[in-house]
Order: sequence, then C-alpha cells, then structure tokens
Amino acid sequence: MAQQEDVFKKIVSHAKEYGFVFQSSEIYDGLAAVYDYGQNGVELKNNIKRYWWDAMTLLHENIVGIDSAIFMHPTIWKASGHVDAFNDPLIDNRDSKKRYRADVLIEDAIAKIDEKIEKEVAKAEKRFGESFDREMFCKTNARVAEHISKRDALHQRYSDAMNANDLDELKQIIIDNDIVCPISGTRNWTDVRQFNLMFKTEMGSTADGAMTVYLRPETAQGIFVNYLNVQKTGRMRLPFGIAQIGKAFRNEIVARQFIFRMREFEQMEMQFFVKPGEELKWFEYWKQVRLAWHKALGMGDQKYRYHDHEKLAHYANAATDIEFEMPFGFKEVEGIHSRTNFDLSQHEKYSGKKIQYFDPEKNESYTPYVIETSIGVDRMFLSVLCSSYEEQALENGETRVVLHLPAPVAPVKCAVMPLVKKDGLPEKARQIVDSLKFDFATRYDEKDSIGKRYRRQDAIGTPFCITVDHQTLEDNTVTIRHRDSMEQSRVKIEDLHELIHNEVSLTSLLRKLA
Ligand code: ATP
Repeated sequence: MAQQEDVFKKIVSHAKEYGFVFQSSEIYDGLAAVYDYGQNGVELKNNIKRYWWDAMTLLHENIVGIDSAIFMHPTIWKASGHVDAFNDPLIDNRDSKKRYRADVLIEDAIAKIDEKIEKEVAKAEKRFGESFDREMFCKTNARVAEHISKRDALHQRYSDAMNANDLDELKQIIIDNDIVCPISGTRNWTDVRQFNLMFKTEMGSTADGAMTVYLRPETAQGIFVNYLNVQKTGRMRLPFGIAQIGKAFRNEIVARQFIFRMREFEQMEMQFFVKPGEELKWFEYWKQVRLAWHKALGMGDQKYRYHDHEKLAHYANAATDIEFEMPFGFKEVEGIHSRTNFDLSQHEKYSGKKIQYFDPEKNESYTPYVIETSIGVDRMFLSVLCSSYEEQALENGETRVVLHLPAPVAPVKCAVMPLVKKDGLPEKARQIVDSLKFDFATRYDEKDSIGKRYRRQDAIGTPFCITVDHQTLEDNTVTIRHRDSMEQSRVKIEDLHELIHNEVSLTSLLRKLA
C-alpha cells in the first residue's frame, strides 16, 4: 500500500510538471480542494467529455443533450430534497483540530473488521486448500464468528442511526467502538453536527431584497426541470434520455486525494425516462452499457467492478456504482440509479405544473420513471491518468516515464520533429504539421536531442512521433515512432494521415460500443 501511495504522489507531481493539473490560486498558496486544468489537462478532459457526449447522443437516437444554467430557482433544491437532506454528519477532534465525516469514521471501522475477517479466511484457505468451505468456516471458527457478529451489530446500529438522522447516536457509536482520531490518536471528540454541502450566494441587490440561490450540487436537476421543454419541443417518445455535462459544487468536509474529491467539479449526467414498470430492465441495460463504455478505453477489464448499494435512498429502487481501481483502492467513478418518479413528482408538487407524459398507445398520462447515469469528469480523468502512468525501465539501463493514454483521448496525437535544425528539415517538418493539423492535435518540436524530445512526448502520452531526416528530402518518407512499443518504421508522408487516424480517431472507439 505504501508503495502505491508513493506512486500516487508521483502521479500528482507529474500532472503538475507536465501541465495537466495545477492547484487553484497557487501563487496565493492555493485554495483547498479546487484545481485548474493546464494546457495538456484541458485537452485530455475535453476528449473524455467528447467521448461521453458522442457515446450518448450519436449512438442513441433517443438521447439528446442540453446545457442548463448553474443558477436555478431555489425552490428546485427544496423540491429535490437537497436543502433539507444534502448533509454530511461532521465531527471534530479537539486535540488534532481535524474535521471528519462521522459516517466515514464508522465505515472505516467496519472496513477494519472486514479486513480482519478476510485475513483469517485467507489463512484458512491456504491451510485447507481445495476442500475449503468459506461459509462453513465463517460459521464454525469462533474468532471469525465473533468478528462477523461484531461487524453486523455495528453495521446495523450505524444504518439505524443514519436512517433516523440520529447525530447523538452516531457520536455514541464512535465512542463505544473506541474510534480514535488517526492524527492525534485520542477520543476527544466534539458532538456530531449536520453540515449542508450546498454553497449559497445571493442574487440581486440587497435593496431589492436579495434572494438566496445555490450553486448546483449536481447537474441532474437542470435536466428534470427541462423534461417538459425537451419532451414537447423535441417530440420525444418514451423511452428517451437527456444528457448534460457541467460544473457542480459541493462544500465537501474532507477533501482528499487530489482531484478525486473536489469542491468544484464537473459531472456528465444522463436521465433516461421510461414507462413505469420498465425501470429495472433499463437499469440493467444502462449498467451494461456504461461498463462497456469504460472498458472500451482498454485500461484493463480487471480494474472495474460494480458495487451494488445495500442502503438505498428512500426514492430509489436500485443503485450501483462503477468502481475503478485507483492507487488508493477501488473507488466510485460513476453511479447508476433507478430513481423512480421521485424527482418529476416533486417538481410537479412544488411548481404546481403538470409534469407528465401522454402515452398515445395507452391513451393515458403518467409520470415517467427515471434511470440516471452520473459520472464525474474529474474522477474519470484521474482514473485515466493513474492507469496510464508508468515508470519503465529500459534495456539500456535508463528509465522513461510514459503515459499510456488511450490514443483517442491523448492531448497531443503526434509530434513532428526535424532531426536537425538545418538543411531544410525544419521547413519540411512544418509542411507535414500543416497537412495534419486540421484533423489531429499536432506539435512541432525542434529543441534538444531527438531522445529528449521523445521523452517529452512520452511524458504527456503522445501516441506518435514523426521524425524528418535527410532521407525525407530525397524520397518523402519519415520515421514514425510508436509510444508504447517505441518501435520505429519508415513510412511515406502520404500514408501518415490514415495511419494516425486509425489509432487516434474517436470513431474507432465509438465503433467498439455499437
Ligand atoms: P461520494 O460518495 O464519493 O461522495 P456521491 O455518491 O455523493 O460520491 P453522486 O452524488 O452519485 O456521488 O455523484 C455522481 C458522480 O459525481 C460520482 O460518481 C463522482 O464521480 C462525481 N463526484 C461526486 N462528488 C464529487 C466531488 N466532490 N469531486 C469530484 N467528483 C465528484
């Protein structure tokens, strides 16, 4: 684990050194959990967004996009439940002055018991070999049975407290289970308080009586409140979806792990409206479709898993996360939720407008049910970055740092380099840039030795380097070097376009999904 943490630190500094991600307001010592994307980061991020957008809107003729405003009528957040219930329970340790989410402290304690159980099971499995019966072992081994009953009791007490919103009980659980602050090691805890995660601001001048508005904590509500507009103007028939990419804001209590948990982030959400009763079928459909979207990037199928929710929000009737194996463990990147007709019904109630669908086949009106797919752009970015990063030992004893980015999302697709800065090679190289730049993000680089130039491109994940040498002037051929294999071959300039296109085009990625 320590080794993995080391790797993660290196990835974070690599992201800065090569213009992917910077701390926000760095020259003023930064702003916690807010980040800026640099010259390469913005390209990678845009490519990820384009991949998602095209997969949704081009491959599904019944999905359309919108771009709703960040500011919305404050009653929307009352209707959605965010004003009353978008809270995290927080607790402070008086000695370390550190703030924690009480629920996370308890979940960590449950995870620790799970680890103990798994350790015992693994030991026994080794001892018994083929004949090992996990279920039987867990029932009959006294120590494991004790751990399991302790875990179950804690889990039950915890979920009762969460469901009842009982903050005193949450604190009592922390005390009864001897949960200590990881920094100070003490049990000197404050009471647990509810903390609403929405940022507030004011709209209008105070003389007019300013209105409190919220920075949206999710993009989904912008879709729900436009359901009627899109359905009517687009003549949409069920089932159909509305997709949106945009910023969201949450005043997270503990912001950790770089861009994994930020206070300003970006979401890609799609709400799929279906006939009541068909929601679970569509839930299964979107589970499969979304996982296939992730896997098509080729970052390794074993790095993904579903995590089905045991505890469902009161309005949901199914929910799962797609988790990705980050250097700090499997973590949620995307959520897929069956939200029933909760949101549309709430907006109908609070707005007083009829928000329904007239079904011409059944000749009746009803409120559609909704399946939501919700993915964080930044978490997706982080998963791509982490799985691409490699410090590779080379045969000649050197090491190179390379980002094995999926070619269609790489910020730069090819770099064109004259071998030397004279004899007409730069001019020839520029001509090649000029012929490729309309279709591919292309860079020209003539500084430093060719080896150094290759390393620079490896470090930002450029799939192809094209070198122009003296032979190019004679026969119009260049060498093309492949990032991952470092293999080089000689090709005709006129073949470059097709060769690059085959590897880097988003189309080939999308075709895998069709
Ligand atoms: P978590 O449990 O990690 O706080 P969540 O379950 O609250 O996440 P959702 O409300 O389901 O998250 O949001 C959908 C997606 O938005 C998440 O899967 C994640 O990718 C992204 N997301 C949510 N909160 C943040 C954040 N603070 N920073 C970056 N991305 C986020």
